[in-house]
Amino acid sequence: MRVEFDHRMQASAAVPDARRIIESCVHCGICTSVCPTYELLDHELDSPRGRIYLIRDMLQGAPVTTRTRDHLDRCLTCRACETTCPSGVEYGQLIDIGRQEIERRIPRSLSERGKRRLLRRALQSPRLLQFALRGAWMVRALLLAPLRKRIPPPPRAADTAVWPPGAHARRVLSLRGCVQGVLAPGYDLALARILDRFGVTLVDVAGSACCGAIDQHLGAPQAAARTMRRNIDAWWPHIEAGAEAIVLSSSACGSMVADYAHLLKDDPLYAAKAQRIGELLRDPAELVAKLWEHASLPLSALPPGRDKLVFHPPCTQQHGLRIKGRVELLLQRAGYQLTPLAEGHLCCGSAGTYSLLQPAVAGRLRQRKLSHLLAGRPVAIASANVGCILYLQQESPVPVRHWLEILAERLLAGAQA
Ligand code: SF4
Ligand code: SF4
Repeated sequence: MRVEFDHRMQASAAVPDARRIIESCVHCGICTSVCPTYELLDHELDSPRGRIYLIRDMLQGAPVTTRTRDHLDRCLTCRACETTCPSGVEYGQLIDIGRQEIERRIPRSLSERGKRRLLRRALQSPRLLQFALRGAWMVRALLLAPLRKRIPPPPRAADTAVWPPGAHARRVLSLRGCVQGVLAPGYDLALARILDRFGVTLVDVAGSACCGAIDQHLGAPQAAARTMRRNIDAWWPHIEAGAEAIVLSSSACGSMVADYAHLLKDDPLYAAKAQRIGELLRDPAELVAKLWEHASLPLSALPPGRDKLVFHPPCTQQHGLRIKGRVELLLQRAGYQLTPLAEGHLCCGSAGTYSLLQPAVAGRLRQRKLSHLLAGRPVAIASANVGCILYLQQESPVPVRHWLEILAERLLAGAQA
């Protein structure tokens, strides 16, 4: 079915993408079975198919209201619908287009705009975030438990140790990031230590920062594009000097960087570079698996009773990057017994800023996710994304950790044994 857009849309650069995506949907509804918001709210307009209809109608000129915006806001951008769709509908791209258009047509109230702007600023500025968190950490102990749980703990001193010296000929690049750099610097440290053991240096790239996902998914694509260009500029001299990959310990950042090529495709100065960045991107699980194929990794023995883990696959890893089962294989190879996980495809509710903007839906998803994660009585939950880890940890009775930290600790202990 040919989609004819409203004349106000015709000049938009998003029209060809929106038309292609909308026309590729055959309305079969298979995606609804994996959509967390449809599952919870049981409303067609809170399903992928319903949202595609809403976006199509809006772009065709139909009137929109705050209720239309609410349905789009409630989407987690988890992209479970995308990996399930038999017609290859690129829903993630379409929801971004829909959100940008609805922001234009139905401006938010002053307070909502202020809240979103504050979130974008605070989360993307490590200095501002650190300043705010320092205050929160000072009063954390005095707060009532429900509030205290919502403030992430400060990183351990050991997590801020210096990375192994970069002496190897093989080099891969990191991203300094925003939230993770402040709250969980240990993840990159763990990645640097593991790679060092395999003879690969993880380069801490000065000038790189937030991946741009916060701006992109909060309807600020121009700001996101500036961030993407800045990261490309920071990585580029290293790529020209022979760095072989870009390896990001946060799957959310990885998923965003994988989209740079598409998001910058119309930028004459950056399109080719963004394409190259996408080709160089590797999930840590892919790289570690490859390196481990050809070298041994001396790990410490697992203490009795500490071998039962469950892995929570972040949406950004399984649906965004389409990497499934790799981390689980590595953990099994390291001697862990992984407990089975029901509804592994469902989002935990964290979803970038979603848990802050849609706390009720996010909270229900987290509760459901934790009940599945804990069903096999694991000693800890492993995951691959800072957002999921911090959000699940708020309510989890067992530690929630990055799989890289778990592996790196065993590696360090193995080296000392
Ligand atoms: S997005 Fe895909 S799965 Fe969902 S209704 Fe359209 S064609 Fe079917
Ligand atoms: S991205 Fe996730 S929440 Fe949004 S429509 Fe698709 S499955 Fe549902």
